[in-house]
Amino acid sequence: MGVNYMSFGQVEGIEPGQQFESRQKLYEAGIHRTLQAGIVGRQDHGAESVVLSGGYQDDEDYGDVIIYTGDGGQDTSRKQVADQEFTGKNLALMKNHSDGIPVRVVRGSGHQSEYSPTTGYRYDGVYDVESVWQEHRPHGFKVCRYRLVKHGGSFDELPEHASDDVDEAGPTVRRKTSVNRIVRNRDVADKVKAINNFRCQVCEGFVETAGGPYAEAAHIRPLGRPHDGPDVKSNILCLCPNHHKSFDMGGLFIEDDLTVRGTSLTLITQKAHPISIEHLRYHRTMWGQP
Ligand SMILES: [Zn+2]
Repeated sequence: MGVNYMSFGQVEGIEPGQQFESRQKLYEAGIHRTLQAGIVGRQDHGAESVVLSGGYQDDEDYGDVIIYTGDGGQDTSRKQVADQEFTGKNLALMKNHSDGIPVRVVRGSGHQSEYSPTTGYRYDGVYDVESVWQEHRPHGFKVCRYRLVKHGGSFDELPEHASDDVDEAGPTVRRKTSVNRIVRNRDVADKVKAINNFRCQVCEGFVETAGGPYAEAAHIRPLGRPHDGPDVKSNILCLCPNHHKSFDMGGLFIEDDLTVRGTSLTLITQKAHPISIEHLRYHRTMWGQP
């Protein structure tokens, strides 16, 4: 049952919270246009919808935040027996992250969560794919992971893990916002950019704009569940847009000695902006890298 065109976002006439008695009804409504798979998507376009139905034990559900597990690597009894890779539908959902495409979320009664419906399926609106990584799980295999955050919903994540290596910036602030994001501390990001003179720490690249020099602040260990990285200088790199995207999507790794993997480059650092080796290790681990 192939999907010949993609249909992203809300479906006209269907409100979040609407119940469906079966996969067939979801299909007919245009909410999730396949009867079997958990992800509807094409790797060159993105994913339009996902269903949480209890098929993957690694899924974590916090309501407005979902840690979703990719597709594949299971045997017929739904036991994980192989690594998941960023191909096919998993690559499609990764594209939602890189291109900023929201994904429809459906919860089924088979999904073990306080947020799942008691019977059938419930369409729960669209979520943003805020981050993507790969993770070794206790069952011994790597799975593709996605942090889904409800688009424009209420936000109930409370501050936590805001202790140990918090520097002068203080803990990451998480509060209700209309866009349902972790509120990043702009002061810290701006400070990091200024210290590095808006030059990319990997390539020394400099982006000139009508509004002055432009650089991006890249968190090494991501903010928010399940990573809970701190919003502090030592966890931020000043990067050009290209290297930011590459770092964010598992294409760029920094070694403990600050060399850039696979190149003869070394991260350019400033005294006032030391980088946490521990967070660099965390970032490599996120992608199953040594
Ligand atoms: Zn660069």
